[in-house]
Amino acid sequence: MSDQNPEEVPGKPVGAGENICRRCEGSGRIEGGECPDCGGTGKVITPIGGG
Ligand SMILES: [Zn+2]
Repeated sequence: MSDQNPEEVPGKPVGAGENICRRCEGSGRIEGGECPDCGGTGKVITPIGGG
């Protein structure tokens, strides 16, 4: 057994998570238009720790 302290890696940032927009599946566009859910980015920010 070693007495060395293992280097702790910082955990994931808490606050919000970036996910692929399900509505447009990450394409950012729907039916040739801009996806209203993600605003055309294809990604949505989902808060963590919600109910
Ligand atoms: Zn979208």
